[in-house]
Amino acid sequence: MALKLNHAQMEAIRQHGARDYPGECCGVMLGKANGVRKQVCEIVPLKNLRHDPMRAQELLPVDDPAKETERNRFLIDPLDQLRVEKDARARGFEVLGYYHSHPDHPARPSIYDREHAWPWYSYVIISVEGGSAKDLTCWVLAEDGGSFCPEPVEVAE
Ligand SMILES: [Zn+2]
Repeated sequence: MALKLNHAQMEAIRQHGARDYPGECCGVMLGKANGVRKQVCEIVPLKNLRHDPMRAQELLPVDDPAKETERNRFLIDPLDQLRVEKDARARGFEVLGYYHSHPDHPARPSIYDREHAWPWYSYVIISVEGGSAKDLTCWVLAEDGGSFCPEPVEVAE
């Protein structure tokens, strides 16, 4: 499938990335999928729970909390996740995927990103260098779950 969004939604992701620099931003993309295309209707910025290391460690422990921080990891609060999903369903939307930023790193998925991804969903990565948003890429997990494949992004005016 291709991920389709408009210029304003694309800008919303880029600006969120720049705003949260040097931390990683994250958020959800809501919309409708028809088998060919995922049409984004709304960008919902979320809080990166790694900003709150104690709660993050409780939810998804990492080996070395000092190394895995908001600067190189993102984590969505399951409560935020539930709230957003419920709200989306009530309005006839579904969760199409997630976006997050890579501060001072290329817009390529890390091993961590792949290990925490689910099939079907679109994963948008925005690289932010020195505070300004650069490349935006989109990925989808391969059927076998072992690798990420690039997913085309269509931007409408
Ligand atoms: Zn990442």
